[in-house]
Amino acid sequence: MEKSKAPPPPAANQAPLTSLQKKMKGSLDGARFRWINEELYKSHSTTAHEMLRNDPDVFREYHEGFRHQVKSWPVNPVDHYISQLSKYPVRTVVADLGCGDAALAQALIPKGMVVLSFDLVSDGAYVVEADVCEKVPLPGSEVLDENSPGMGKGQLVDVVVCALSLMGTNWPSCVKEAWRILKPGGELKIAEVTSRFSDVKKFEKLVCELGFKAKSMDDSNSHFMLFEFKKVPRNLGQKGLDKVLTQTALLKPCEYKRR
Ligand code: SAH
Repeated sequence: MEKSKAPPPPAANQAPLTSLQKKMKGSLDGARFRWINEELYKSHSTTAHEMLRNDPDVFREYHEGFRHQVKSWPVNPVDHYISQLSKYPVRTVVADLGCGDAALAQALIPKGMVVLSFDLVSDGAYVVEADVCEKVPLPGSEVLDENSPGMGKGQLVDVVVCALSLMGTNWPSCVKEAWRILKPGGELKIAEVTSRFSDVKKFEKLVCELGFKAKSMDDSNSHFMLFEFKKVPRNLGQKGLDKVLTQTALLKPCEYKRR
């Protein structure tokens, strides 16, 4: 089957736009954002990575659309995490998986915190290019440590943040990578759009099976849910692990409304 193509990007502006032209440009930008968004949610992360690598403009356009969407939300999860993590000890090491424009790093690094930011496209400054479902380029082993039963070794990360970034059809692998890079007892914070959940309890169970203990769940916000987990020993053999990683239907793709 031939793969669908993105609607063309709107042409560069020559003269100031009339209000009708502005409206039309808004709809075109919106259509393109929804197309890119759908591709990111409905593809394996390696396919999404390749698409963005071949056309970095797609990433820029996606983020313009994404910012436009979250502007209408009462709170942006990233702002919540910035204020929460600002109160953590300055030596805390944070890994932001699927960081977008690295808002966490930009806010917290000046306060003395270490924030390591990963996304499918680098900005050449804060963001390290990585497919976080395949491999986060940080130390940490899944090979179990005899001194710390059920845990790997070599990790240096205290907190992993996944803010609206569990996107590809292989998203549970990102949770597995979070476990690999977190120190024993480290924290995993996940924010996801409420409409994506078919069964919140089953989602929590999946994360726990990958080696976490659920600490809290906050559904007080109208648009997204906040989860906190703590890394604990994992008691899952390879077969069990493979099975958990296939339960991707627990998060539906996020569909944004037309502008
Ligand atoms: N966390 C940021 C950005 C959210 S948009 C914020 O809240 O502002 C979701 C981001 O996740 C996008 O930038 C997308 O490129 C990234 N993402 C999705 N899947 C990814 C993957 N497999 N590896 C790296 N980044 C990914």
